[in-house]
Amino acid sequence: MTEEGDRFEFPYDKLLIATGSAAVKPDFAGIDLPEVTVLKSLEDGRKIKTLLKSNRIKKAVIIGMGYIALEMCESLAGLNIAVDMVKPNPIFLPWLEPSMARTVKEELEAKGVGVYAGQTVERIEKTADGLQVNCRGLTLAADMVIVGIGVTPCSQIAENAGLELSTSKSIAVDRKLRTSDENIYAAGDCADAYHVVTGEKTWIPLALRANRAGWAVADNVCGKEAQLDGVAGTAVFRVFDFEVARTGLNVVEAQKFGFDPVQNMIQSRSKAHAHPGNSTIWVNMIGDKKSGRLLGTQMAGKDGVAHRINAVAVALHNQMTVRQFSQTDLSYAPPFGPTWDPTLIAANQLIKKL
Ligand SMILES: Cc1cc2nc3c(=O)[nH]c(=O)nc-3n(C[C@H](O)[C@H](O)[C@H](O)COP(=O)(O)OP(=O)(O)OC[C@H]3O[C@@H](n4cnc5c(N)ncnc54)[C@H](O)[C@@H]3O)c2cc1C
Repeated sequence: MTEEGDRFEFPYDKLLIATGSAAVKPDFAGIDLPEVTVLKSLEDGRKIKTLLKSNRIKKAVIIGMGYIALEMCESLAGLNIAVDMVKPNPIFLPWLEPSMARTVKEELEAKGVGVYAGQTVERIEKTADGLQVNCRGLTLAADMVIVGIGVTPCSQIAENAGLELSTSKSIAVDRKLRTSDENIYAAGDCADAYHVVTGEKTWIPLALRANRAGWAVADNVCGKEAQLDGVAGTAVFRVFDFEVARTGLNVVEAQKFGFDPVQNMIQSRSKAHAHPGNSTIWVNMIGDKKSGRLLGTQMAGKDGVAHRINAVAVALHNQMTVRQFSQTDLSYAPPFGPTWDPTLIAANQLIKKL
């Protein structure tokens, strides 16, 4: 259908559905106020910029504490806007090892951010001064509210067409990105993927997979066969001075998929001990007691996290054991890390528990 509401039809030999994902929009009163933005698109970003240009935004409330919400928090704080964050789950960053999550939360609080995990927003009201965000037992004043509580796959077209849906209602695709109709492909945030650790279907809406899947569909449609291995769920984000990253499974996810997970957390340095500018880096590595396999890793620190997680991701793609990973020949020079890279120290320590 066009923007004017006119219907049109295109015949096809092969069809690609690449409808992405949509921001989850809560349905409490006040969600459609002009100063409230459910963030997803560039258009939403432009709306926020326009509000900021008015120079009357001194306080913002962000609903949600995922990576998009946290990145928004950093950006707004950088503009000297006071930020409060609120979400229903009392556990801050639940996928992260608890002590690591606490460290990140403390970083936010040290920067003056109000972190209210365990609070459900019931309504937003307009007041003489701006906005009031009402939770049960908590009221927060704001000039602007941003909602970033997650996304959901845009799979309605596929569902209407009778195509098979998968985890989180994403569109089920095989390794060639074919849906349950062999002439229809799906790629990107709307579609599922195989997880390289579990071998099972998963839905992890991130940019690399979306892009890679698009290229693979183009190859397949043009007769050059392309198959994708899957995803490890590798992700990184920055909040203030902290880089936080993950790849693979955490303990809870590993248990769900029948592994016998053991985790071990180590603290090391981002550069050689005597090198200026070195800072603490935390690595939590998870292995399977039954097989010795490396299952996942989470990392946080002020320096050197983003590139380190990638080495672990490569190991996960190759189904390596923790011992095999501990034997890898990773680089060393004082400006870049200690002699034993923090990920190797994590593996050496985890082996003792497996
Ligand atoms: C604020 C933000 C920050 C992000 N940061 C990162 C990051 O740092 N790292 C990372 O890996 N990922 C990040 N992501 C995720 C990343 O942007 C997505 O994984 C990626 O854009 C998905 O690409 P896509 O083409 O599948 O979907 P999209 O980019 O969402 O594109 C889908 C397109 O389909 C259109 N569409 C939907 N339904 C229909 C329909 N019925 N008819 C016609 N058109 C339709 C939409 O309008 C849209 O243009 C971020 C996402 C957001 C929102």
